Amino acid sequence: MRAFLAPQHEASARAAAAFAGTLRARREPPTDDAARREARELLRDMGSDDVLAPIGALDWRACCLTREALAAASPLADAVFAVQGLGLVPILLSGNAAMRERWLAPSLAGQAMGAFAMTEPQAGSDVAAITTRAVRDGDSYVLDGSKHLISNAGVADYYTVFASTDASAGGRGISAFVVPADTVGLRFVRPQLLSSPHPLGELAFEGCRVPASHRLGDEGKGFALGLRTLDRLRATVGAAACGMGARALEEALAHARVRHQFGKPLAEQQLVQQKLARMATELCAARLLVYRAAQVADGGAERVTLEAAMAKLFATEAAQRIVDDAVQIIGGAGVLAAHPVDRLYRSVRALRIYEGTSEVQHLVIAGLLLRGRDA
Ligand SMILES: Cc1cc2nc3c(=O)[nH]c(=O)nc-3n(C[C@H](O)[C@H](O)[C@H](O)COP(=O)(O)OP(=O)(O)OC[C@H]3O[C@@H](n4cnc5c(N)ncnc54)[C@H](O)[C@@H]3O)c2cc1C
Repeated sequence: MRAFLAPQHEASARAAAAFAGTLRARREPPTDDAARREARELLRDMGSDDVLAPIGALDWRACCLTREALAAASPLADAVFAVQGLGLVPILLSGNAAMRERWLAPSLAGQAMGAFAMTEPQAGSDVAAITTRAVRDGDSYVLDGSKHLISNAGVADYYTVFASTDASAGGRGISAFVVPADTVGLRFVRPQLLSSPHPLGELAFEGCRVPASHRLGDEGKGFALGLRTLDRLRATVGAAACGMGARALEEALAHARVRHQFGKPLAEQQLVQQKLARMATELCAARLLVYRAAQVADGGAERVTLEAAMAKLFATEAAQRIVDDAVQIIGGAGVLAAHPVDRLYRSVRALRIYEGTSEVQHLVIAGLLLRGRDA
């Protein structure tokens, strides 16, 4: 990947690898409560070891290197890093001085946990259909509505919330707000249990009043801010997929070398070799797309929609196939809950759904091509 990286990224990669190395021995938390506690601990540890710095620097290649290393070692740690980015990046892109003063340093130090609250029970891919309302009342807004599938719901210290300030304007009527978790009228409704450890849940806004100064950017610009944020973070989802794929390949190679069947190692069976070759080739192609997208973002492009959509689409779909091949090579042991590839198998699936499903990425790519963009 060197062609896409700058000299300072060597240090980012080393720091991420060193931190990730400390995670490999950590046991998967057995319950949702344990996962929530572990997420807070991981965030604190990341803050102490300066692992969150690439988010503050908006250094997308460093974010990708970090997510790749974290996802290979602990999908939960990767999720903690990712959601901290989702919560904080809108503040970095559009927050006023007071918001930055309050949230930036504690978030990067791992002492304040962020979250990104966009999805609603009736509005997933079609974000413009959200019905949470923010009604202006003097110097404040009053939010009413509900959100679900929100990472860090119930554990975050603040939420970047998307709400409609003008229902007649669709996407152009959406505004974004920073809502501290202790705001009266914001309620953590219930956790939503995922197949792999990940704090997820539902939120309710019931007459939740926030000062107008908590609005991110201008009224009606929240949808565009959400898209700009996701444009940048989507390549990092692809990077997480590469991390999971790389770990799966590592586990499959190690197993194929030592496991003997029919009088020789699996590694000498040609059908197993075919799988290994396909896994490595897809992983390499995924990385190329991911680091290309991150490099374009680091170059200061306002939108990296096409590159990011291709990276997320290809890398997450490839990682699903790579992890599945690894389980197949490892056989029965690969579906035992304690095996690292089983954990990857349960974790990789969500990457094709969150931050825009694979189908949505197809629509985005085709839409841009049809409007004349070169691939
Ligand atoms: C682990 C996890 C963490 C998440 N964290 C967050 C978070 O922190 N904050 C947040 O706001 N959201 C979060 N989400 C929600 C996520 O962003 C949504 O699940 C995602 O956007 C898809 O929305 P949906 O689940 O409502 O599916 P739907 O939009 O209902 O889609 C269902 C299916 O229909 C397909 N589909 C929809 N429209 C079309 C179309 N026009 N053409 C073809 N196919 C289509 C989709 O691709 C999908 O396959 C998270 C989700 C998961 C799984």
